[in-house]
Amino acid sequence: MTLRHVARLPVHTGPAGWNAILPPANPRAALTGEAVCDVAIVGAGFAGLSAAWHLRAQDPTIRVTVLEAGRVAESSAGRNSGFMIDLPHELTSSDYAGAGEAQDRVLTRLNRHAIDVAETVVQDYDLPSGTFARSGKINGAASAVGNAANRSYAEHLAAMGEAHELLDANTMREVTGSSYYSGGLFTPGTAMIQPAAYIRGLAGGLEREGVTIFEGSPVKAFESTGNGWALITPQGRLRASKVILANNGHLESFGFKAGRLMHIMLNACMTAEIPAEALRNLGGQQVWGLTPSDPMGCTLRRISTPQGTSRLVIRQGGYYRPNMATSPADLARVVAKMRAKFNARFPSLGGIPFEHCWSGHLCLTKNAVSVMRELEPGLYSACVQNGLGTTRGTLTGIGAADLALGRSSEISRFFSAEAEPTRLPPHPFDTIGANAYLRWKEWQARAE
Ligand SMILES: Cc1cc2nc3c(=O)[nH]c(=O)nc-3n(C[C@H](O)[C@H](O)[C@H](O)COP(=O)(O)OP(=O)(O)OC[C@H]3O[C@@H](n4cnc5c(N)ncnc54)[C@H](O)[C@@H]3O)c2cc1C
Repeated sequence: MTLRHVARLPVHTGPAGWNAILPPANPRAALTGEAVCDVAIVGAGFAGLSAAWHLRAQDPTIRVTVLEAGRVAESSAGRNSGFMIDLPHELTSSDYAGAGEAQDRVLTRLNRHAIDVAETVVQDYDLPSGTFARSGKINGAASAVGNAANRSYAEHLAAMGEAHELLDANTMREVTGSSYYSGGLFTPGTAMIQPAAYIRGLAGGLEREGVTIFEGSPVKAFESTGNGWALITPQGRLRASKVILANNGHLESFGFKAGRLMHIMLNACMTAEIPAEALRNLGGQQVWGLTPSDPMGCTLRRISTPQGTSRLVIRQGGYYRPNMATSPADLARVVAKMRAKFNARFPSLGGIPFEHCWSGHLCLTKNAVSVMRELEPGLYSACVQNGLGTTRGTLTGIGAADLALGRSSEISRFFSAEAEPTRLPPHPFDTIGANAYLRWKEWQARAE
């Protein structure tokens, strides 16, 4: 019955661009006074909402309440690049290959399940066209190192029996309109989503099915009540038989896995709408998604009307911040880098301004494991998604929901069997070491 205080709440720098280009959403009420439910979920991102979706799908009578610190789709859920990737995507490797073929096959099957879940959500909740498309993606390469990484990854995919196609510079220009890339590796299984539209649509569909979602309701303290848990927000108190923490790296703010979670801040910019004439001059396809051949390079997406008018979106480099926050100076520094990279790829669009620039939080572990398990009786975690939060978040949410229901599934067994996150060096050596390593890797991948 000891009250435990939450050490830190999410802080965001810059707008969540994907959410900013959608029509404004009406705010939801904050939790006030006393409330009760069967399962309470902390966090309305991919993990939290997928947990709610799975709980309701398994048992429509279960009372589920989600507490969100801010607004739905304003956190990393509305800040990511929207690649739901099916294949191994190990950010700490030099070519995304994972821990070995056998493990990668299992993860690929699970990732595809997450993509199928997203498609079901889109269909069942009638989300707008453009929210989800199984369009595949390209790993773009601009240097010999990048092309070597693509060939190495292609060999890994061939060994796994996975479809892929190496592209030459001409094809890259036909797709992107840019002469910057000398090669590419196309894989067909990635689904591209408008992440904020997806998360908003999922939240709205869940509410229609009876799930309660409170915004502006950060959990600031929590306690065991003997037969369940109580979550304390600034104006309310929610009692629940079971609680799922689906707040990604902020698991550490609740006192769990300290010294084992790597908090990386990633940044992105979205251009203003690109005028029709500039698009005609650019050429290329209307919609495409490109991840860098070297995980430390920059991601690019072109979107069109179904995702919210014609724009390009660029995502660049991470830095390690144990306080899970980006300063305005951090963001300004990376925006300048992104502008230079953007201009190198699209010289004809140099005059198109970035309309939205933002930073977001990515939580990794050194040994690439998630934290999806029962932390204490009745308290579950669906956290730490590593590089693939859209798919991994969907999976850990479903797995944690299974644990809360007392069900065993392939997903719950897979994540429950993962090792503990590896311990990191103590502060400040973790920060100094990680940032030096990231800067070195980024320099090596500077052309990508
Ligand atoms: C720039 C960028 C690009 C990215 N691109 C991709 C990509 O293309 N593909 C991909 O798969 N992943 C990508 N990611 C990673 C992905 O966005 C995250 O891994 C994913 O959002 C994690 O989902 P989640 O539900 O676990 O956590 P989150 O989306 O972070 O959701 C957790 C929620 O918990 C809430 N919360 C935290 N503490 C509390 C509290 N005390 N009380 C109440 N609520 C709380 C937060 O407000 C938040 O809404 C990217 C990330 C960034 C920043």
